[in-house]
Amino acid sequence: MNLLEHESKALLAASGVPVPVAALIHRSKTLAALMANLSTPLVLKSQVATGGRGKAGGIKVVEAAADLQATIDQLIALPIKGLLPSTLLAEEKLAITRELYLSLLVDRSLGAVKLMAHSNGGVEVEDNHDFKEWPVDGKSAEELGQALADYYGLPQQTFALQDLVENLLTCLYTNDALMIEINPLALTAGDTLVAADAKIILDDAATFRHDWQFEQAPAEANFVTINQQGNTATIANGAGLAMATVDAAVDAGLEPANFLDIGGGASADQLFSVFQRIMEYPSIQVIIINIFAGITRSDEVAKAIIAARDKIDGLPPLFIRLAGTSDVKATELLAEANIATLPDLESCLNAAKRAIDA
Ligand code: GDP
Ligand code: MN
Repeated sequence: MNLLEHESKALLAASGVPVPVAALIHRSKTLAALMANLSTPLVLKSQVATGGRGKAGGIKVVEAAADLQATIDQLIALPIKGLLPSTLLAEEKLAITRELYLSLLVDRSLGAVKLMAHSNGGVEVEDNHDFKEWPVDGKSAEELGQALADYYGLPQQTFALQDLVENLLTCLYTNDALMIEINPLALTAGDTLVAADAKIILDDAATFRHDWQFEQAPAEANFVTINQQGNTATIANGAGLAMATVDAAVDAGLEPANFLDIGGGASADQLFSVFQRIMEYPSIQVIIINIFAGITRSDEVAKAIIAARDKIDGLPPLFIRLAGTSDVKATELLAEANIATLPDLESCLNAAKRAIDA
C-alpha cells in the first residue's frame, strides 16, 4: 500500500523525523482553520499517490495570503496523471539550500534492508544512476549516519544524520514498511535537515498487525513488489499463471518489479488502479499482460485495459497475450484502440526485451 505524502510524514514525525510545519486542507475546510498554524509564504502540495507532482504543476508556492484561495481552487481541480486530490497539504515554505535523496528499502535479492542516497536529490533524481548504497545489516545508525555525512560532504550534520537513520529504521520496522523515500531531504538555510517530501510503502501482508486507516484503499492488494528497481511490470490472471509469468520474464532477461494476479474478472477501475500503481515505479519500462481466459472473458479484460490506458498519460508500452474465451473479439477491440497483441508469452517477453534494449 502506497501512502500519500501527508500520511507518510505523519508516520515519520511519530518516529522523530523532522518534517515541515503543516496543515491539511480538505475540500470542505475553511481557510481560517488552516491559517491558525501557518502563514504565507507557504507551499501547497497536491496529495495524489504518484511522483512527479512538481513537474506536473501539483506543487505551488503561495507568496501572498490574497492568492491562497485561488491557488487552492486551482490545485484541487488539477488531475495529476489522471488522479484528482481529495486533500492538499499546506506547509511552511522552507528556505532550501541543498536537496538530497535518502531512502530505506527492503531489498529482497539482498535479503536485507538497504540505505540508498544521492547527493543530488529533487525532481530530477531519476536522471542519476550512481546512487550510493549500504546494506543496513550489522551496521549501527552511528556508522550509517557517519557514512552519509561523509558521502554528502556534510560533516557538521553527522549527529543529525545519525539520528535520522536511527529514526527512519524505527519507522520502517515498527510500521512494517517496505520503503521510505525522502526526496528531497532538504538542507535549510538554518542548517537543519527536513523531510520536504516523503513516500512510504507499507507491506500489505502485514495489514493484520496494524489498524491502518489511510486514504488509499489497498485496491490492488494483490500487487506484490518484488524489486523496487525492476524494469518490467507483470499482470496475469490466476496465481499460478502470474508466478509462471514472473519466472518466464526473468528467463527472458527482464527484471520483474512485481507479481500480480488480477483474479477472475478485471474491471476498468481495477486495471486503472494497477496502472496507477505501476506509474509510481519510475524504473518500469514495459508492462507484460498475460491472460488465459476461462471464466474470465478476455473481451471484458480488453475493454478494461483500453479504458484504463486512456486515462493515464505516459503509461509504459503494453505487451499483451490474451487467449481463451472471446479472444478473437478481444484482439479486435485492442487493435481498434491501437494496442497490439502477441500470440504467446514468449513473443511478448522478447518484444519487451527488445524495447528495453533499444
Ligand atoms: P514531487 O515532485 O512529487 O516529488 O514533489 P516534492 O514535494 O518533492 O516537490 C518538488 C520540488 O518542489 C522539490 O524538489 C523542491 O524543489 C520544491 N519544494 C517543495 N517544497 C518546498 C518548500 O517548502 N520550499 C521550497 N523552496 N521548495 C519546495
Ligand atoms: Mn519529491
